Amino acid sequence: MGAEGELQDVLILGAGAAGLWCAEVAARGGREVAVLEKVTRTGTKVLASGGTRCNITTTLGPEEAARLFGAKGERFLRAGFRNLPPAEVRERFEGWGVPTEVAPLEKIFPSSGNAKDVRDALESAARAAGATIHLEAGARSIESDGDLWTVRTGDDRVWRSRTLVLAVGGKSYPKTGTTGDGYPWLEALGLEVVTPVPALVPLTSQEAWVHELTGIAWQGGEARLERPDGRILERRRRPLMFTHRGLSGPAAMDLSHHVARDSATSGGLSVKVDFFPELDRERLRAALVDAAGLPGAPRLQRALGSLETGPMPRRLFDAVAASASLPSDVAVNGLDRRMRHALVEAMKGLSVPVRGTVGWDHAEVTAGGLALREVNPRTMAVNRCPGLFVVGELLDLNGPIGGLSFQAAFATAQLAGEALAKSGRGSLD
Ligand SMILES: Cc1cc2nc3c(=O)[nH]c(=O)nc-3n(C[C@H](O)[C@H](O)[C@H](O)COP(=O)(O)OP(=O)(O)OC[C@H]3O[C@@H](n4cnc5c(N)ncnc54)[C@H](O)[C@@H]3O)c2cc1C
Repeated sequence: MGAEGELQDVLILGAGAAGLWCAEVAARGGREVAVLEKVTRTGTKVLASGGTRCNITTTLGPEEAARLFGAKGERFLRAGFRNLPPAEVRERFEGWGVPTEVAPLEKIFPSSGNAKDVRDALESAARAAGATIHLEAGARSIESDGDLWTVRTGDDRVWRSRTLVLAVGGKSYPKTGTTGDGYPWLEALGLEVVTPVPALVPLTSQEAWVHELTGIAWQGGEARLERPDGRILERRRRPLMFTHRGLSGPAAMDLSHHVARDSATSGGLSVKVDFFPELDRERLRAALVDAAGLPGAPRLQRALGSLETGPMPRRLFDAVAASASLPSDVAVNGLDRRMRHALVEAMKGLSVPVRGTVGWDHAEVTAGGLALREVNPRTMAVNRCPGLFVVGELLDLNGPIGGLSFQAAFATAQLAGEALAKSGRGSLD
């Protein structure tokens, strides 16, 4: 069983998060599964994930989690997330001996804080269920004669199966082994592939004043990504960080797929930062008027420290004041009506022009991939290609930071594994 050249029952390409999960489910369901992995170990990206702590899923319920993938993604993932809700992913890992715990931003991590425990659990579970894993067996090509799939690996070995699952991931972080191998295979089969772009990646800005704010983080704000015509592409109320290249932190990274796609075409996007989303303009104006009565006419930046959101770092306030054309040392009683209006507008929407992303080498995921309409959302079977299944990041799905990428990888892999188990050996076509 599992030797090259022989007819395989189920062949899975890629021993990452989705490939290992699918292997476990299909093998436990009675299929003979061979997994071919390109690099020398399984789950390289799992090991690198979450700052090597691996944020395996989210505390959100299935509906709420699916909604975070946008309208198309939500429609596609609804069945999968109901079938394998985030809470069940957590239970599955607990059952494999990996206790988990909750962290801020609805994240779930292994309690050990060690991504290796997650990778080891996935690999052990797949092997225990009976799957065979072949390392350093990177697929070079796939083809079908309408009945059998033939896969050629790097050293000219040939593998055949009626059932082929593509779980080779995207093309972000290429040093981990995921170099976008799946896209040309899918295109050669005549399938629609949405152009892959880097996502969950920091943004670049050309503005020197932005770079000067390096190291400043703002927790309670809302970032909205705007087109030059004022159209808002998306809003995220999450932490934001200024860096020597532009913007980072969950808010900026969540918006990055729009930036990557747009900067390849029109450009001219800006992130508008509302530092006080909980306070409307009236409340802020009132706070400034109240502050004008403070004794000793302190600097405005210090006076604003009384707002419920806490003080704004001096360098950041100076940038906000400059964007409102105010001198940074303006005193609380030195604001006239026009200045107050300008300052409120700057605090509710500091404009940070963004140019692009820092690119594939630093992107956590790939947005784009196999168009969802090519795939049955209940089984992950590719509609026009009998015996072919696609799972995980190779699909045109992308969600925000917070364990959603693994949740999507596991849920799509679960559906494919169940479909394979149900259809039984050799009967898929
Ligand atoms: C630095 C970093 C941190 C991240 N942190 C998180 C996080 O905390 N939470 C979260 O939800 N997501 C996180 N992600 C995203 C997450 O890792 C991916 O979305 C997820 O791993 C996708 O699973 P997958 O199985 O589709 O692809 P992968 O896990 O990338 O697996 C694909 C596998 O296929 C193999 N392969 C590639 N080409 C071939 C080939 N030709 N033949 C055979 N095998 C091949 C690869 O070597 C790899 O093992 C992070 C990503 C990165 C890069």
